[in-house]
Amino acid sequence: MSCNSPESRPDWKAYVLRELGQDAHRQAEAHLATCSTCHEEVATLRLTLDTLSTLREEEMPRRIAFVSDKVFEPRWWQRVFSPTFAAGALVAAAILVHGVLQPGQAQVDAAVTKAISQVEARHVQEIQAMYEQLEVRDKQVANMYRNAVLSQ
Ligand SMILES: [Zn+2]
Repeated sequence: MSCNSPESRPDWKAYVLRELGQDAHRQAEAHLATCSTCHEEVATLRLTLDTLSTLREEEMPRRIAFVSDKVFEPRWWQRVFSPTFAAGALVAAAILVHGVLQPGQAQVDAAVTKAISQVEARHVQEIQAMYEQLEVRDKQVANMYRNAVLSQ
């Protein structure tokens, strides 16, 4: 026997699940004994059922939850550890630390004033030293001139 007419084929899913009546079940067994095509199909269905039976059973959800439900609202610690909040907090902390560690404008002004006065004091010393050298040279030139005149 073969499966030339699809209407004559037994419902193999119902057969494998033992949902056929006694007469239909017996007819299906008779067909199965002679039809290699259906024999393969039934073997595949049984393999599928065996595989499914190895999966662990999951408890059915008791009710459908909506996104607006309280369950989905993040708790305070979930908000704190969310990337957006963490990045914002980091920027705020950086600004705060920068503000605390940054020297005030008065300190900057004082440092600039001190540096300028140091440079000015050094310039005054250098100019005084140049004048002293000039005076020494003047006296040397004057002595040389006097000696030259006196020697004549
Ligand atoms: Zn068949």
